[in-house]
Amino acid sequence: MIVTIDGPAGSGKSTTARRAAARLSYVYLDTGAMYRAVALGFLRADAPATIASAETVLSSLRVDVQYRDGTMQVFLGDEAVTDRLRSAEVGRIVSDISTLEPIREYMVEQQRRIGRVQADRHGGVVLDGRDTGTVVFPEAPVKIFMVADIDERARRRLQEHEAAGEEITFEEVRAEIEQRDEQDRTRDIAPLRRADDATVLDTTDCTIAEQVELVVDHVKAQDAHGT
Ligand code: C5P
Repeated sequence: MIVTIDGPAGSGKSTTARRAAARLSYVYLDTGAMYRAVALGFLRADAPATIASAETVLSSLRVDVQYRDGTMQVFLGDEAVTDRLRSAEVGRIVSDISTLEPIREYMVEQQRRIGRVQADRHGGVVLDGRDTGTVVFPEAPVKIFMVADIDERARRRLQEHEAAGEEITFEEVRAEIEQRDEQDRTRDIAPLRRADDATVLDTTDCTIAEQVELVVDHVKAQDAHGT
């Protein structure tokens, strides 16, 4: 079973996808973390967001995912970088990097490969991102498109930054996610959009537990329908 959850920044995708995967004994694949890892590679190489540097960076850098005790770890080459991906610095450039065609091609190929292997091994995968239901797995039997009010999304992201000890204001976070959403929605390749057959889930007034329940119910209904 492949389950895709797409939507704008801070809509609650990651937490919901991670917990829904745990409830279903599936594996969670955070595709945004993979784009963030490439962005970290660009920052370290001090490379501009151009096709030419994408090709150079990709020739020397491999992004992979491993699961340790069911938890997803992202690797840049041999280095585990999961803890370094949520910084504001990475957040500022990741959307630029994500518009580059060679990067998207590489990522989609990796995500399909990892998704299929893990679904075979564990019975299912829950992916979250921007194009997982439209491009990565357009044939997925369960697709969710998660949305939430912009102020609520900014509040959630601010809490994450504060928990990580980063000094940033509500206005800065709000502006950053608004700009990122706009860029993700309007890019030429794989823009953020709802797949025609995706179910919209507005999480503005939902608790995490409610969101997880809705996703799990969807999967169970589809499972019962499919068998
Ligand atoms: O989900 P997260 O906020 O970590 O994603 C970071 C960025 O990675 C997004 O703003 C988007 O530019 C890019 N991304 C993407 N396609 C995906 C997942 C993330 O372009 N499937």
